[in-house]
Amino acid sequence: MTDLNSSIKSMKQKYREIFLKSVDAIKQRVDEIKPKDFDGDIFDEYEPQSLGTQWQSAVLEMFEDDICHEIYRKWKEILDYRKNFECKGCATCCNLACSEFSPEQLREKAQNGDKFASQFTKIFIPYKTREEARAIYPEYLELLDGTLEDEVYFYHCPKLNECKRCSDYENRPEICRTFPDNPLSILPETCGFYQWRAEVEPVALMLHSMVEIIDYYKQNIPRKK
Ligand code: SF4
Ligand code: SF4
Repeated sequence: MTDLNSSIKSMKQKYREIFLKSVDAIKQRVDEIKPKDFDGDIFDEYEPQSLGTQWQSAVLEMFEDDICHEIYRKWKEILDYRKNFECKGCATCCNLACSEFSPEQLREKAQNGDKFASQFTKIFIPYKTREEARAIYPEYLELLDGTLEDEVYFYHCPKLNECKRCSDYENRPEICRTFPDNPLSILPETCGFYQWRAEVEPVALMLHSMVEIIDYYKQNIPRKK
């Protein structure tokens, strides 16, 4: 069995490499629309109506109208490709769901209209002890023990019957039907979507890095007309 710790380390290493490439690629797009002979930095403060502010506005527009659409389109392709794979019924995702939120916090979020929290709290109940969760997927718990500083809460679904089948399959909520909808989530090798995740990981990491970098630009470009 592939060591989960090594897989995560390898993913982090790949992400660092991809991130640096994305930084260069986005910088190149930003420089391509820089006014000719203009010698300023995209993060500098410029006078209103100046070449600098026009450039900054053009860059922000390019992010919205161009790059963000590209990211969305590629993300959708990844999710469409998921349709070529199917659940193998290993029941791990029904037996072990993790959340950074406690049961009380999830209930509060659900009351405040959070759709995911609302579905989650309708089916999942918390494990009484961490050791019960560990018995389901020991490698994953070991990984969390070694990497996460924040508290993680573990849940399971009581609708799973003794034969590891959903006892209310026809009425299962959307979060069950669409799982896994994030190609960067950690999946056990027993999952029917494990191969999907492995195949799309490089593109998903690239898109994730682009979102992070664009957010950085958006937060740090001074906004003047
Ligand atoms: S409702 Fe069914 S599919 Fe959803 S988590 Fe529970 S047992 Fe699994
Ligand atoms: S972990 Fe994957 S294969 Fe197992 S029940 Fe969930 S979706 Fe299906």
